[in-house]
Parts: sequence; structure tokens; C-alpha cells
Amino acid sequence: MTADRQPVLGILGGGQLARMLALAAAPLGVKTLVVDGVADACAGQVAPLLVADWTDYAALEAFASKVDVVTFDFENVPAETAHWLAERVAVFPAPQALAVAQDRLAEKTMFRDCGLQTAAFMAVDTREMLDQALATIGTPAILKTRRLGYDGKGQFRLHSIADADAAWASLGAAAARHGLILEAFVPFQRELSVIAVRGRNGDFNTWPLTRNWHTDGVLSMSLAPAPDIDQLQGRATELARTLAERLGYVGVFALELFVKDGELLGNEMAPRVHNSGHWTIEGAHTSQFENHVRAVLGMPLGNGEARGVSAMFNWIGDLPDPAPVLRTVDAHWHDYGKQARPGRKVGHATLCAPTSAALADRLADVATTLDRLPQAQPALDALTR
Ligand code: AMP
Repeated sequence: MTADRQPVLGILGGGQLARMLALAAAPLGVKTLVVDGVADACAGQVAPLLVADWTDYAALEAFASKVDVVTFDFENVPAETAHWLAERVAVFPAPQALAVAQDRLAEKTMFRDCGLQTAAFMAVDTREMLDQALATIGTPAILKTRRLGYDGKGQFRLHSIADADAAWASLGAAAARHGLILEAFVPFQRELSVIAVRGRNGDFNTWPLTRNWHTDGVLSMSLAPAPDIDQLQGRATELARTLAERLGYVGVFALELFVKDGELLGNEMAPRVHNSGHWTIEGAHTSQFENHVRAVLGMPLGNGEARGVSAMFNWIGDLPDPAPVLRTVDAHWHDYGKQARPGRKVGHATLCAPTSAALADRLADVATTLDRLPQAQPALDALTR
């Protein structure tokens, strides 16, 4: 425990999530200390950064002595590192909860145990198991690494059984290391996520369901509150609460869901603040980042209600011209301070408005000026339907 009046939150991973956590922590009087393996980690522009690998225990010892609580911006921190730190300092979410969310097989099994349906799935460790799983599940299907996959990475889509060789050539080596999972392809009508938070005292809260669109497995656009969801909000909240209680979870997490024929299916759980919750910074009474800091430090949680309607553009690869966003009323620019690189999340913009009609006007204006209409079109269609 630090002697200072101000608590210090240690964050493992120094990407944009750590950066936004640090920015949300400051007004609460909470200091942050970030650990990352690279010296130019973008959170280092707004918070002190310790450059160290996950296995550099001397550096982690020094880190643990300087912080009151440790949390994550990155769910793939090795389980050993998380456990080692948990023996020295409070770690939230707990390493056991992290371990479930790090493994797609354990995660989907837990979803089913908690009453959340999923696509049919089977573990695949060998080429023979892939053939057996394909015979049971059929195609189309998706072969995924059980661990270390995110944003569609470590995935192979099989359109027919004839794709099995190519799938194995792509992921067979990963099977030997961490195992794979074959999932039936879900012909979903929508993708939604619910962001939820659970405090150290068990208090629980969610934000309104968010509708998401992905391109090549990466989030492209979010709209919140998701329009036309009928009774799904109550069901999603109840499922998120069941999962959080099952895991004894503390902090913010995201539950990614498919909607198929009016039913919710669980895709995955992210044990951290999530890209589909970035709109909450300006679009909700309390942001996911602020509530995560409050939760892990044992402070009262804030209200997650939406202030109006929000749309978030994700900027992948490079940033467009900020000017059209900066000139728009209640539009918010976020540059993560990262180098442009294909496929990299380098920033986002959130447009807020009091009504769906007003948001549709703002979104159409900004998207047209930026030449990003294809990215915004699905959200525009959902807003104006
Ligand atoms: P993931 O990394 O598992 O979240 O996958 C990234 C994206 O790929 C998801 O948001 C979906 O758009 C798509 N996807 C993943 N799994 C499936 C599935 N079983 N059926 C259909 N689409 C999927």
C-alpha cells in the first residue's frame, strides 16, 4: 500500500484502453502506473510508464510496491504473471476470472452453464479431432485458437469440408500450443454487446445494449442504445449479472452477443473495458473507464444511463481528417497517439445527439465529408428504419 493519500492504480498493458483508464482516473484523484513491454506504448503519453516484460519479476516487484490495485488493459497477460502479482497486491479482475475469459472453450462452457446459448462448438487439438468436429458441426464453421485471439485474429472460416486442409495449414501449429475450437457459423441478424460493471461489494450495473458492426473481424461502428431491441436488454443484463457473480468478477467487462431469430447467443466475454463501450465517455452519465476505476478501487459505482443516442466510428489503420468531427456539435475526437499501421486501432470518434433523427443527420454529414459513408451506412439504416 502506498503512503500517499492518492491511490495508485497499476495497469498491465499500455494501449489505448490503459490510456483512457488513466484519463478517467485523474479526476477521481487516482494516480496510474502503466507496465508495457514497449517504450512507445501510447498510454505512456498520459501516465507514468514502466517498460518491462511480463516475466521480468524484478521490475514487476518494483511495480507491485508502488501500486494499491492492479488491473488490465490487455486480457492476454500470462496467467502466471497475474497470479504472481495477486500474491503481492490486490488484482481485479481476479486471475481466475481472467483465466476463464482467456480460453474460448472454458468461456463458452461457462456461458452454457449460466443459461446463455452459444453456437455449437467442439475442442480441436489434432487433425483427426478437426475431421470429427466438422462431421458433427458441419459447415460453414469457424476454427479459432482457444487462446490469444482477438479482433478476428487466429481464426479461419471454413465454407465446406474441403477447406479443412487449408484451415489446418493455417492453425495446426497453434493447435499444438494452445488448442483450437471449432464453432458453427451463426447466421446472426445483429451483433450486440452489453458492457457491465461489478464492484468489490457486489454492486452491479450495465450500460444500454450497444449494436456493433465488424469489418474483417474488427469493430468498425457502434450505435447505442441499440435500437429495436425489445426485451433483449433485460435478458442481457440478467445474463451479464449471472456471469459476473459466477466469476466473482470485479471491474468492467463486455459480453459480445449475436441476435438470431430474437434469441441471444454468447460469442465472447472481454474481461476489461471494451471498444464497443467507448461511446460511454461522452454518451453516458458515467463512462466504462470511470466505472472500472471506481469498481477496482472499491468506490461507489456511477450510473450508466445514456444521455441521448451515440454513434462511434472506429479508426483502423490511419486517422481521417479530424476537422469535420471537431466542427460538429457534440462530436468527440479521440486520437490514441499511435503510429499508423494497417489493421491497427489508432483512434475513434463519438457523435452524440438527443434523438435518433438528429444523430442520423450528424452522422450522415460527418461520414459524407470524411468519405466514410460505407462505414456509417449500416448505422444510418438502423437509425432511420
Ligand atoms: P471474435 O474474435 O470471436 O469476437 O470474432 C470477431 C467477429 O467475427 C465477431 O464479432 C463476428 O462478427 C465474427 N464471428 C466470430 N465468431 C462467429 C460465429 N461463430 N458465427 C458468425 N460470426 C462469427
